[in-house]
Amino acid sequence: MKRVYRAASLLQVAHARNVLITAGIHCELRNQYLAGALGDLPMMETWPQLYVDDADEGFALSVLARASAVSAGNPWVCAECGEQMEPQFTQCWRCGVELARTTPP
Ligand SMILES: [Zn+2]
Repeated sequence: MKRVYRAASLLQVAHARNVLITAGIHCELRNQYLAGALGDLPMMETWPQLYVDDADEGFALSVLARASAVSAGNPWVCAECGEQMEPQFTQCWRCGVELARTTPP
C-alpha cells in the first residue's frame, strides 16, 4: 500500500477519499483516531491518511492533483453549451458534460 494523501483535517481527507472512490480507486483511511497520540508521535504522522494499492498510486495522485487544481482553479466554459462554470464544479450543470471532455477557457 502507498500513502497518497494526508491532512490535519479529517474533513479534507474524507473529501479526498470521496474523490478517489468516485474515480473507482479503492483506498484505505488510516489514522482516523490517532490525534490523541499527538506529542508522542511526530505531528504529521498522527494526521489521517489515505492509502491505495501500489498499482493505483500514479492514477490516484493524478486524480487528486486534478481535483485540487479544479477546486483552486479558474472558472471554465462548457464546450458543449457555453455555460460559465465555477471552478469547484467538474461537470456542467446544464448539459452534464464533464470538465475533462471540455477545453479550458
Ligand atoms: Zn454544458
